[in-house]
Amino acid sequence: MTAIPVEHGVVALLLICDDCGRGLDGGAVREEWIVLWHRAVVEGWTGRDRAIGPHRCRSCA
Ligand SMILES: [Zn+2]
Repeated sequence: MTAIPVEHGVVALLLICDDCGRGLDGGAVREEWIVLWHRAVVEGWTGRDRAIGPHRCRSCA
């Protein structure tokens, strides 16, 4: 799925798994896409290294 911007006072990115819908967000800190994606990869996510998916979480990879 496409990473979408979400408003939590600050603009943050939310990465969503295409299979199960699990989300990985940038938390309170505004992160650049590539920073969020790097953290996702460390946690086992797979997919394109672009904000436009597909992306899969560790459980679905
Ligand atoms: Zn998943």
